[in-house]
Order: sequence, then C-alpha cells, then structure tokens
Amino acid sequence: MPRRIVVGNWKMNQAHQEALELTSQIKASCENISGVHVILAPPFTSLLGMRDLLGDCPVSLAAQNMFHHDSGAYTGEISPVMLKGVCEYVILGHSERRSMFLECNEVINKKMLSALSHGIKPILCVGEVLEDRNSGFSLKAVKLQMEESLQDLTSINGLMVAYEPVWAIGTGESATPEIIEDMASDCIRSTLVSLFGDDGKTIPILYGGSVNAQNVSAFLNCNQVDGVLVGGASLDHTQFIDIIKQSQIWS
Ligand code: PEP
Repeated sequence: MPRRIVVGNWKMNQAHQEALELTSQIKASCENISGVHVILAPPFTSLLGMRDLLGDCPVSLAAQNMFHHDSGAYTGEISPVMLKGVCEYVILGHSERRSMFLECNEVINKKMLSALSHGIKPILCVGEVLEDRNSGFSLKAVKLQMEESLQDLTSINGLMVAYEPVWAIGTGESATPEIIEDMASDCIRSTLVSLFGDDGKTIPILYGGSVNAQNVSAFLNCNQVDGVLVGGASLDHTQFIDIIKQSQIWS
C-alpha cells in the first residue's frame, strides 16, 4: 500500500530532555498509525535516546547532516559509520547547510555516495533562491542541483528528494500548488527518470517550506508529491500530529 511521508526537521532546537518529551508525545499518537511514514530529524545528541525510546514504534529517525569520511581528524563531524544502527535516514543538502556552511553540490554528492554506501537513506533537499525564481531560472537551478548532487550513484536505495524553495523556508510564505507541481513534474521527476530510468519513477518527492496544519492538504494533493518536510511546525506537537493525521491514506 502506498504511504505518505512526513519528515519533521527539528533543526538546532530541543535540548535532550525536551526532545525526549516531544518524542513521547509523537510516539503515543503514532502507535497505531497507518498509511503514513513519519521520520523525525532531531539534533545528533538526541538520536540515540530517541531510538531507544521509540523502540518498535513505526517512526523512523534521520540525522540532519553527516560528513562523507568514515573516520579521521575531522573535529566536530559525524560519520555514516557512527549513524549506522542509530538512524535510517540522513537529510543532505538542506538550504541552511548550503547557505551558512557553504556546502556545494560537489560536497553534497560526496555525502550522498557515502551515505548510500553505508546503507543510510538520503533525503536530498533541493530548491531555488528567490533571485532564480524572479529571473525565471528556477527549473534550471534545481535541475543542476539534482544532476550534480546525484552523479555517479550506483544505488538509490531509499533515496527521497525534497523540493524546498529557499524563499519558502521559515518565512511563512509557502509555494503555491502550481509552482510545486511544475517543479515536481517538469524538473524533479523528469531529472530522476533521465538519471535512473524507471527506478526514477519510484523515488518519493516531498515538498517543504512553511508547511503547517492549515496548508498541508493543498501540498499533499499536488501531483507527484508523496509527502512533506516540516520545519517549524514539527516542533509543535499538536500541529505536527494534525499534519500526520491529514497525511494518512485510508485503505
Ligand atoms: C525545513 O526546515 O526544511 C523547513 C521547510 O522549514 P519550515 O517548515 O519552518 O519552513
């Protein structure tokens, strides 16, 4: 049965105790959930504790980033080897990593290859900046991000692509369903198919950018959209659960 996907990106929020409390609330609401795959991306410091707390609850975990080397003199970095067994997914290429930590497509590509080689499933974030949108270059900009970030991949096991227009992240101004459908069909899906053939048709596409409980249904109804990546609203338990409930596909 197809499942919608809801990812909660907590960013640099929730000290460990708060993270465990929020996890307990989400766990209680998700115990018997079906038709939706919930993935939580807390800070690194809470991944292990949350894994233990979630037990066999069907909620997955993602890291918000990782380095591409397995080990070595890289102070402050976390490797895929360290994430293995702790979380199933990793968010790569988030616009905050691109803009504040200067991650380019070449670096993101190294991380993609490294994550996949260790069996960690990447959630690749792509999205145009406002100048690209205003000058009509959105599709071209996102296509380039995808082609460069996804080059040389020999496996796509568990890969997802999140379309997150940079101007919509944390701004309260989400993209319209028309913008999302154009991007998802004319750029993201077509690029995935040109890179991976028929397998590219099966890769889930998410939308992220100021998603909340009031607007989520409009995004879930977009052609080619399999779910949402939620930032700010994922920190509010009531709202996040509402988003999960609205995402459920009833059999
Ligand atoms: C995000 O963190 O990827 C995001 C989309 O944030 P927000 O929902 O707050 O815009």
